[in-house]
Amino acid sequence: MAADSAPPPGAPPARPRVAVVGTGLAGLATAYYLGRDRRFDIELFDSNPTIGLDAASLTVTTDAGRRRVDVPMRSLAGGYYTNVLALYRELGLRLERQWYSFSFSATTDGTYYIHQGQGGWRGTRLPGRVRAAVRDAAVRARKAHTAGGASSAARAAAAAAAVWAAWASRTLFIAVCYIYFTALCLAVDPPADMSLEAFLGRWLVPAWFADRFVVPMFAAMGTCTLETIRKAPAHDVVIYKRRTFLQPHFHLRDNVRAAVTRLLVDIPADRRHLGVAVENVAQRHGRWTLRAGGRVHTFDHVVLAVPPGVAAAMLTDESDYVRQTLMPLLQAVKSTVVEVCVHQDPVVLAHLHPDDVSDLNFVIDGDAIESTHVLGHGVFQTTNPVVSPMLSGVLGRSVFERVTRSAAVDALADELARRNARGAAADASGLWVCGSWAWRGQVLLEGCVTSALDVAAAVRAASPKTR
Ligand SMILES: Cc1cc2nc3c(=O)[nH]c(=O)nc-3n(C[C@H](O)[C@H](O)[C@H](O)COP(=O)(O)OP(=O)(O)OC[C@H]3O[C@@H](n4cnc5c(N)ncnc54)[C@H](O)[C@@H]3O)c2cc1C
Repeated sequence: MAADSAPPPGAPPARPRVAVVGTGLAGLATAYYLGRDRRFDIELFDSNPTIGLDAASLTVTTDAGRRRVDVPMRSLAGGYYTNVLALYRELGLRLERQWYSFSFSATTDGTYYIHQGQGGWRGTRLPGRVRAAVRDAAVRARKAHTAGGASSAARAAAAAAAVWAAWASRTLFIAVCYIYFTALCLAVDPPADMSLEAFLGRWLVPAWFADRFVVPMFAAMGTCTLETIRKAPAHDVVIYKRRTFLQPHFHLRDNVRAAVTRLLVDIPADRRHLGVAVENVAQRHGRWTLRAGGRVHTFDHVVLAVPPGVAAAMLTDESDYVRQTLMPLLQAVKSTVVEVCVHQDPVVLAHLHPDDVSDLNFVIDGDAIESTHVLGHGVFQTTNPVVSPMLSGVLGRSVFERVTRSAAVDALADELARRNARGAAADASGLWVCGSWAWRGQVLLEGCVTSALDVAAAVRAASPKTR
């Protein structure tokens, strides 16, 4: 087995060597921030044969020609993604504003709400099945009237009015609940250990609104079950709602591939070890060794930008700190598996009336939630499909591991923040961890960039100045 050779005695101190394991946004952003300094020799490792951030994306052919589809679709809510948007702007990437329309449905009773976009300013509209019921009753009333049956005409007209009134009163109820819930999020800071379920109960948020809006919306965002979101920290939801109030979403105009190219600008191709799984990471003689692809590499710093369970599995360091503090925290974090399917099969929207199909369509099925993003030209991206799209319509299927928010994630994020702040004085200094989950917030791209900034600052603080 080959090993890196030691520098000759008396040689000037070399630039610190940094290994970044994982090339999702967390790893790429760390490499970019450190690469900008030109003080470090950086090498990237990923078990995937292509850069992780873009590994699942596809090029599809539609009637409008070939187009690149980011998988998963990642949208950035204004107000929340301060560091991601600043990074993308620094990279010169083009961002597009996006005001999504949404539909909410349940497999049990179809579509119950449509949000027409513009952050709510475009209001709502009658779901197709309600409109059809009103229309049917109105037609019956007209027919009865023409046939001279005044009382049956009146009964049918009353039925039409009742369907419409039921929908209007529900919409009014939703609007009042929405205003109340928004005001709560703007005004109340829930204790750090309070779950969303406890928060909604404590402030008497009506159960129907909580179960049909708040919980599904955040479960779709976290691509997890409704129960997971009920148990997640309430402050996550409150802070997200507070920061994104009346803000549009943004997305990358030129796909995530453009971001990858610019983030890698300072990392030469021969420093990118792709398709090379890191097997273990440990300290030896004051430096960090990493075994990958049959070689042992030695570094001054190793940044683990992989899911917590993967980090725990590769850490074989025997130090008390790693064994007794870091490992138990990493192992306590839970993840779920998320399926994303890019396809051309509209059957996934079978629970919706055709008129109700919006940009984003959420369907509740028991404790699960499916979301389908309509990409145009007959292409859909469905996350956690309730009904599997027909194989013949499937363009690509990917599976992701996603950390689920919990108090255990907060405990880990707090410990990582403490060590980052201590730099060279941190226990097991030289070993750093980042990821979308490695901050006190939602498991989103903002966590990747925020934790990458912290880790880059820690690596700098822990590195003596060199030539
Ligand atoms: C369906 C879905 C939709 C989402 N939508 C949004 C959204 O709209 N907005 C948003 O902000 N976020 C969204 N997210 C979340 C966001 O995409 C992820 O949280 C984020 O991309 C994770 O980035 P990361 O760098 O922390 O980790 P990852 O992207 O998971 O990167 C980890 C890397 O480590 C590599 N690796 C694993 N094991 C090893 C090993 N042994 N050796 C070497 N390399 C290894 C993997 O190949 C991978 O490339 C979504 C996620 C999903 C699944």
